Amino acid sequence: MGIDQQNPTDPSPPSRTADWRALAASVFEHSREGMLISDADNRIVAVNPGFLELTGYSEGEVLGRNPGFLHSGRHGPDYYEQMWGALRSSGFWQGEIWDRRKSGESFLALFSISVVRDGDGKITHHIGICSDLSRFGEARNQLEKMAHFDALTALPNRNLLNYRLQQSLATAQRENRTMALVFLDLDGFKPINDRYGHAAGDRLLVEIANRLGLALRTGDTVARLGGDEFVFIISRLKNLDELDPILLRLLCDVAAPCRIDGHEMRVSASIGVTVYPLDGSDPDTLLRHADQAMYQAKQNGRNRYHLYDAEQDRRSQTRRDQVLRLRQAIPLRELDLYYQPKVNLRTGGVVGMEALLRWHHPECGLLPPEEFLPPIDNNDLIIDIGRWVMGEALSQMKAWRAMGMEMPVSVNIAGRHLQCADFKNHLKEALACRPEVSPGLFEIEILESSTLDDLAQVRETVVACQEMGVRIALDDFGTGSSSLAHLRHVPSDTLKIDRSFVSNLLDDADDLTLVESVIGLGAAFSRQVVAEGVETPEHGLILLRLGCDVAQGYGIAHPMPAGDVPAWVGAWRPDPQWALWADTQWEMADFPLLVAQYDHLKWVRRVVIAVSGGAMQLTAAELNDHRQCRFGHWYYGYGSVRYGKLAEFQAIEPVHLEVHRIGPEIMRLKESGEREQIVAQVRLLLASKDKILDFLNRLQRAVAHRSHTLQ
Ligand code: C2E
Ligand code: MG
Ligand code: MG
Repeated sequence: MGIDQQNPTDPSPPSRTADWRALAASVFEHSREGMLISDADNRIVAVNPGFLELTGYSEGEVLGRNPGFLHSGRHGPDYYEQMWGALRSSGFWQGEIWDRRKSGESFLALFSISVVRDGDGKITHHIGICSDLSRFGEARNQLEKMAHFDALTALPNRNLLNYRLQQSLATAQRENRTMALVFLDLDGFKPINDRYGHAAGDRLLVEIANRLGLALRTGDTVARLGGDEFVFIISRLKNLDELDPILLRLLCDVAAPCRIDGHEMRVSASIGVTVYPLDGSDPDTLLRHADQAMYQAKQNGRNRYHLYDAEQDRRSQTRRDQVLRLRQAIPLRELDLYYQPKVNLRTGGVVGMEALLRWHHPECGLLPPEEFLPPIDNNDLIIDIGRWVMGEALSQMKAWRAMGMEMPVSVNIAGRHLQCADFKNHLKEALACRPEVSPGLFEIEILESSTLDDLAQVRETVVACQEMGVRIALDDFGTGSSSLAHLRHVPSDTLKIDRSFVSNLLDDADDLTLVESVIGLGAAFSRQVVAEGVETPEHGLILLRLGCDVAQGYGIAHPMPAGDVPAWVGAWRPDPQWALWADTQWEMADFPLLVAQYDHLKWVRRVVIAVSGGAMQLTAAELNDHRQCRFGHWYYGYGSVRYGKLAEFQAIEPVHLEVHRIGPEIMRLKESGEREQIVAQVRLLLASKDKILDFLNRLQRAVAHRSHTLQ
């Protein structure tokens, strides 16, 4: 049935309408577009020859059928639902539909469908006109290629990658599957480009692209993102273990040498991977995460792969936020310097202050530097902060000077700042702005732990600072791996022994030896030695006996705001014990005597800890046997050989025996739980301890003042 057949019931004579109908019938008949008319129930009532040619069906095979029989299966129900929605609401729809010819071959057609209604608005027909887009196939292919494929390597480009990534992710989500997104960047490609030219570089990229294509499993995608960056979508992974061999193969494939234009070229790959569903981000973010992981692989030494770690990413994001916030702290005037005194133990005088950075954080309160400086150790922000610190400390010195207090001040400078080419100028400017301040009172503490890569350059900077009159200290001496190299190459004036060694001085014989050695090094190299971390008067005493005169630590004063310094200086009184020992010089052979008292103190402390519910840190032999504790080892060994004839030494033995009677007794009472007896015995123990310390003190005095009798 064709549309040219007039309705036989139509009585109207031939007229303009009839002309029009004839014309329409002729268009219907001769159009190369396929045309189809269906009734209100969407049953086909007419098709034109163009339609029959396009689909390969005969008229008899299509009339009366729903056009749905043409569906290729490439569109889901949503697609047709959306089409019918548009037809119902606007009466028109246009779009591309993949249909199927009688032969089974799919074809893409551009459809325009219109709804025809009668005078009452009721649908009477649908008219569909379709053009076969396959006719434009070649040109279209070409266009599609340009839009979706990389011209150099013929791999999918970023557009197609994005499309496929969306599809793969949707499938992975729907089917609960694991999918990996792999970002690959070549290592060492730029030098090849620079050395052999871009044409050779291009050929290398093509070669690598071919290898990557071969490494692909069916269903996966490899795309070139641009430059020397490639991305893989590896879908349908059973588990993560499956990924390792794939990535290792990629690394090997890329690293194998290439022969281009008679030259052997080698590159390697840094690979970053993120895995859905471990990383549940959207496609763009997945790609960014894989890129970040690739960057990490580069940082870790290249020619390797790195799996994106969401937790680590969150931490580095927090760190970035902190750095941004810290950057605002200078203009917002939230930074501050606290000052910690350094004193001379022998004379009791205050010899200077160390300026220590603080951040008055509006939400977190007063922050010490260790809470905000480490993330910027390698960031230029540490340079801005260092400049602020120098300026602020010098201004403070000027203010104190105006009050009649000439106070030497040291500041801490990070390795990155010291090694920046402008450091000398920063210092010069800061000094020039405050001509009242004598540069000789200003000292720069170089952190031992900070990386000093180029010692020759550091030396040059340090010499320039010293020429301006400024002093140089090596801070935290002994903690870095290159203390001796620094001592040799950096012409410092001062060594600051790290507080970790000093704090343990009384408990750890190795730390005592270390401190003693640094003091010896200082003397040999003519450096002043400052001990940090002096927490008790006893620390000061032993340092004094070891020959270290200058000390700093909580036992002297905590760091304080600048405003508190003058009052503190006025009120400062050194520990009286120090003056008693100020004139004494000790022989090396007598150092064990200095340590013996701390061994005894430690033993008593351990018994008290154990009886108070803590773990027992003494062995049974150390507890029970007066010859087996550390003090006993010294007393019956070296001590008795060296001081056995002295009455002060002999007086110690009965008290020490008493101590070894009380200690085990306390532990027995602990078992039977008699509280009052325990308290009484602990009191006795502490009294005996004081007696021993007193005898040791007398012995030390005797040794110091009658050393000639021991020769
Ligand atoms: P540092 O230069 O070795 O400073 C000594 C640190 O030891 C200070 O910590 C001080 O408060 C602490 N301290 C002093 N006496 C004692 C003690 O008896 N016992 C113990 N346990 N600690 C004691 P703070 O102020 O937290 O500074 C820590 C580190 O931060 C400094 O170590 C220094 O390396 C760095 N720093 C401080 N201010 C600055 C600065 O302005 N710039 C740079 N780049 N680093 C700074
Ligand atoms: Mg310091
Ligand atoms: Mg230090």
